[in-house]
Amino acid sequence: MNPEKIWLSSPHMGGKEFEYVQEAFASNWVAPLGPNVNGFEASLEKYLGESCHVAALSSGTAALHLALVLLGVERGDEVLCQSMTFSASANPIVYRGATPVFVDSEPHTWNICPDHLEAAIKDRISKGKKPKAIIAVHLYGMPFKVKEVLAVAQKYEIPLIEDSAEAMGSSYNRQKCGTFGTIGILSFNGNKIITTSGGGALVSKNEKIKEKAIFLATQARDEAPHYQHSEIGYNYRLSNISAGIGRGQMEVLDAHVQLRRKMHDFYMEIFEGWDGVSVFSEPSEQMVSNHWLSCITVDPTRAGISSEGIRNALAEHNIESRPLWKPMHLQPVYWDAPYYGAKISETLFQQGVCLPSGSNITEKEKQRIQAVLEEYK
Ligand SMILES: *Cc1c(COP(=O)(O)O)cnc(C)c1O
Repeated sequence: MNPEKIWLSSPHMGGKEFEYVQEAFASNWVAPLGPNVNGFEASLEKYLGESCHVAALSSGTAALHLALVLLGVERGDEVLCQSMTFSASANPIVYRGATPVFVDSEPHTWNICPDHLEAAIKDRISKGKKPKAIIAVHLYGMPFKVKEVLAVAQKYEIPLIEDSAEAMGSSYNRQKCGTFGTIGILSFNGNKIITTSGGGALVSKNEKIKEKAIFLATQARDEAPHYQHSEIGYNYRLSNISAGIGRGQMEVLDAHVQLRRKMHDFYMEIFEGWDGVSVFSEPSEQMVSNHWLSCITVDPTRAGISSEGIRNALAEHNIESRPLWKPMHLQPVYWDAPYYGAKISETLFQQGVCLPSGSNITEKEKQRIQAVLEEYK
């Protein structure tokens, strides 16, 4: 019989979630509004600081879609986007009828390269089209080079959308990720660092942006007793049931970040002294990653083994691991999109693997993981 599956990243309830959900049932707030939605937003605003305003939405993807609407991205526009990411960072550009222009990563944070970003902006402008927005991602919880990316965005006066879906609890110069962009987005999907079973949020320092996001997320109803609409709306608000789970999760967020960071330490110890294998770690003390997923890269010529070999060895023992995000410019659906960069993200994709990282992985499960890795070595 197979031992029980060890997941890459699975939901981890703290204990209070069910009470908030029961409260919602008891008071019949079973709707996409209610006290849990307001309470969850308030606790997110407090956690992020920086006088941020947060709109709770049905998913991170919905938050990205609304961010593009709010920044005026329309049919025929171009939007710059980090190539190495989950497809949900880029797809909302296409929902708008706009064109994604992909940019390579740099090797230190695996996130958008400020130099290639600037080169891309210059080239698009010279071709007659200034990009309408930049989407940068804190991949696996690792902050992107915030100072450098913001400098490029400001120099060319292009708004920055900060995809912080994987980086709740990460920080840069002690400021929380999600608070740097013109608009930031968060995700509370089932595999993220905290979950509402499905959900997301839009973050902005401008209260008007929050209000407009909620307006658009609730079908864009004008003020009138009847249903009147001057704009196209969406059904993107978070439900009061899901928000109850979110309120409970906020109480354990910091503890779960610490547990994810311990998983990273666990892999640092295992792989110490493995030639050609490196554990993805903060390149500078300015950055603190939540280590949502612990990842390694394996240089097969130096290591004599491969990331795919590790993945298969773990899979044989019912332990889930996964290749890194396949860059968008290599995806069949985006083959014809413009791309600026070299082969950093491509090489990372070839050599990298994400390892089980959940805050709920037990000591026994850690021993199983360690045993498989050491046998494979
Ligand atoms: C998960 C994720 C999203 C989308 O969030 P959902 O809540 O799943 O819609 C967007 N960007 C990145 C980088 C993600 O990892």
